[in-house]
Amino acid sequence: MLKNEVDLNKTGTVFNIQRFSVNDGPGIRTIVFLKGCPLSCYWCSNPESQNINKELLFNLSNCTGCHKCEKNCEHDAIDFNNINRIDRDRCISCGNCAENCYPGALVISGKDMNVKEVLLEINKDSSQFRRSNGGVTLSGGEPLLQNEFALEILKGCKQMGVHTTIETTGYVNKNILENVLPWVDLVLLDIKTIDEEKHKKYVGASNKIILKNAKLISDLAKSMIVRVPVIPEFNCDSKSIENIAKFSKDLNHVKELHLLPYHRLGLNKYTCLGKKYLMKDNINTPNEEIMLKFKKIVQKIGLKCNIGAH
Ligand code: SF4
Ligand code: SF4
Repeated sequence: MLKNEVDLNKTGTVFNIQRFSVNDGPGIRTIVFLKGCPLSCYWCSNPESQNINKELLFNLSNCTGCHKCEKNCEHDAIDFNNINRIDRDRCISCGNCAENCYPGALVISGKDMNVKEVLLEINKDSSQFRRSNGGVTLSGGEPLLQNEFALEILKGCKQMGVHTTIETTGYVNKNILENVLPWVDLVLLDIKTIDEEKHKKYVGASNKIILKNAKLISDLAKSMIVRVPVIPEFNCDSKSIENIAKFSKDLNHVKELHLLPYHRLGLNKYTCLGKKYLMKDNINTPNEEIMLKFKKIVQKIGLKCNIGAH
């Protein structure tokens, strides 16, 4: 029997709790997004997830020009002459401006929560979980960057009888995985490419630790699915997909691989954060024909394959 004492006071930073999701694990799920990621993928659709600290987002299209933010900032970080509006060197993400911005042009991403508060939010959806065989998915960023917080949430979920999934980059210390996996029913592991040099360029780190952890997770996890974001000019070719599928097929308990076509839905958030989006303007979502071709490659290698959303 696993020891199941939950530290309800452990705190962490959550940037979203999304209900009624059907893409990230079985049934209807509540996704708890934890802030912070050690990677920086060119195509990241949640750029507000990358920084572990709270961040201010500014959406010019909601701004009425009332100047209240300027008056409420003690750090002189609001600059109407700056195209991005926020002087990020001065801003400490205190949120005073956002609290007084009624049209919602300024928003703080990230909220300090303790485990008890997160579990109370999760508990609101318990009847959905029962009806649909759903549960909770921890996502990010990389949810295991806040591993102590994540662990207590997972333990709390199991105490409540809730199915648990983590969506991980795999770019995590081995000991952390060993601690957390006993409390996880399903691991969704992203494998982006087998090519290390490409991984370094487009993801910001080597993939060696991820591929090593893939083996560890497949040995220890109750269930695991490999997920592959399909990104034009990165891995959107038959050879890249075949290499990932072959690698996944050789893992002990992996029977399923999901292909997640690239999309540009997070683009506006880059503008709101004053960050540069690194994907070229002319790159679009891979069409159905290409995705079906890749699906057949994966199936031929002997894995069940879904084309999903991410
Ligand atoms: S408080 Fe909000 S609406 Fe008013 S100027 Fe500042 S950002 Fe714009
Ligand atoms: S979050 Fe705080 S420091 Fe940053 S601009 Fe707003 S009021 Fe100023």
